[in-house]
Amino acid sequence: MTNRGIGLPANSRILKKICVLGDFAVGKTSMIRRYVLDEFDDRYITTLGTKITKKNMNLEGRDLTFQIWDIVGNIKFTKIQGQYYQGSDGAFIIFDVTRRDTFDNVSKWADMFLEVAKGARLIFIANKVDLDSTFDFEAMMEDVAKRYNAATFRTSAKTGAQVEDAFKTLGERILAHKSKGT
Ligand code: GDP
Ligand code: MG
Repeated sequence: MTNRGIGLPANSRILKKICVLGDFAVGKTSMIRRYVLDEFDDRYITTLGTKITKKNMNLEGRDLTFQIWDIVGNIKFTKIQGQYYQGSDGAFIIFDVTRRDTFDNVSKWADMFLEVAKGARLIFIANKVDLDSTFDFEAMMEDVAKRYNAATFRTSAKTGAQVEDAFKTLGERILAHKSKGT
């Protein structure tokens, strides 16, 4: 057996764990559904516990598998949820542009997550942009994102707007971060 010493074999997959976080009904499950199945469902289906979905993607010639964790969205339960964050490479922190209170919790989600998943990459998401927003979130969202060195996206799981781009960007930022050797 020879080891050519040129890095990973061409067909090796890179596995990355990401969590989708945010308050109740902001659209976490819908975002994952849109991304993985390219479908949308108007019914509200409460996520009982944690659901894990996989999706393959190719980023800059590298085969990546996202392991996407959909975690039940009640901020009061997060103490016991900490174990689910373990080993994560990144997360989406989602709020609903029609409900101001869901924005007020985004840094709580970020802090609780990063306490366990140190060094993970974050993306803040303003979801449901197909509806009229009820508050002016732009400047506040950019402020929060800057604090966490995170990107921002405005998505609609309903129309699909920006959903694929958000996942792609998270993948790229995770890969870029890891290749810096941290
Ligand atoms: P979760 O609790 O964060 O997982 O939220 P869900 O994905 O279950 O979505 C909660 C509700 O919001 C459901 O009725 C969805 O159909 C709806 N919803 C989710 N994303 C969007 C969106 O982008 N636009 C609109 N109009 N409704 C959405
Ligand atoms: Mg859900």
